[in-house]
Amino acid sequence: MFRNFKLVPNIIFGRGCFAQLDEIIEPRRENSNAWAVFVVDEVFKGKDLEGRIPLHDKDMLLWVNVDDEPKTAYVDRLTLEVKDHADALPCAVIGIGGGSSMDLAKSISLMLTNEGSSTLYQGWDLIQNPAVYHAAVPTLSGTGAEVSRTAVLTGPEKKLGLNSDYTVFDQVVLDPELTADVPKEQHFYTGMDCYIHCIESLQGTYLNEFSKAYGEKSLDLCRQVFLDQHPDSADKLMMASFFGGMSIAYSQVGACHALSYGLSFVLGTHHGVGCCITFDVLEEYYPEGVKEFRTMMDKCGVDIPRGLTKDLSQGDIETMITVALGLDPLWENCLGKDWKSVMTRDKARSLFLRM
Ligand code: NAD
Ligand code: ZN
Repeated sequence: MFRNFKLVPNIIFGRGCFAQLDEIIEPRRENSNAWAVFVVDEVFKGKDLEGRIPLHDKDMLLWVNVDDEPKTAYVDRLTLEVKDHADALPCAVIGIGGGSSMDLAKSISLMLTNEGSSTLYQGWDLIQNPAVYHAAVPTLSGTGAEVSRTAVLTGPEKKLGLNSDYTVFDQVVLDPELTADVPKEQHFYTGMDCYIHCIESLQGTYLNEFSKAYGEKSLDLCRQVFLDQHPDSADKLMMASFFGGMSIAYSQVGACHALSYGLSFVLGTHHGVGCCITFDVLEEYYPEGVKEFRTMMDKCGVDIPRGLTKDLSQGDIETMITVALGLDPLWENCLGKDWKSVMTRDKARSLFLRM
């Protein structure tokens, strides 16, 4: 069976295009009571961007905290706050921030129209009703969350996304200027998330010409950004992120993402840095990619935390292994159908112990 997947229908790209956001949302405001909610990373409180958000009188500005990656309980609380703002539902939900804020915006737009807790919808195609119109304004490039059909959430039992066609944004506003103030380390970690998406997709057994076309271009852009340190690197990384997301949409990620989910489930390690920590021990599986990743790390003058697992209990390590090895498609993409004979619990343990 071939997957018939949904794409973001409207995309605007270019330095300064954020100024058109009001005009883009305008057609959603069908009557004088219509209101929009802006879901904004609180890192922008008091910053220039706050003053540029095109808020109308009845609109809601919902600041979100992303110190922890999005949790189902947080999504449920934010959804209630939005519902309490007015009698009717908002006409638009606009997420402004990195992958975490974009995933929160996606989740809120879905939970406004689907009953119960977001934990009920962690999985594939469990969402019953279309979301409220939702748009993304990424301020950090790499995750591909702006293009994907998932909103990654950590619940009481699992870290699993709300995967559905309804999750896909209706509009994406790609303004590279908005990424100007991302701290150096964060820029590298989230950028490497994109680089790793490409390596895992391009070296995977699920590869096809669709994924290859997007993955090769994204990888080329990542190299221009992190090896050549090109002056237009913000523009390039924004497109690399988008193309990287398109590449994995029709293939899959691999060993690095599988292991990093185990790491972050137990330690709460954020996605970008977690992928870097994991990728650094995978030279056996991605020899060229890991070598290039280390060169990029040197060039950018960034390092990764080490020794994360040395004081962990045996129980925690076993949980990490169980979470990581539960992601069958990722392993099959990386190692083929016979992956279980290669990636044994012992092998996974030895990799975790090097992190
Ligand atoms: P993030 O959104 O968690 O943000 C990381 C840090 O950067 C935060 O402190 C944030 O406040 C700050 N930040 C963001 N933009 C900034 C700016 N312009 N200036 C200064 N600081 C800024 O980071 P991320 O790596 O973009 O996203 C990670 C999240 O995305 C994880 O929750 C992960 O699970 C999720 N994710 C989702 C998908 C998807 O397809 N939905 C794919 C990959 C990852
Ligand atoms: Zn990723």
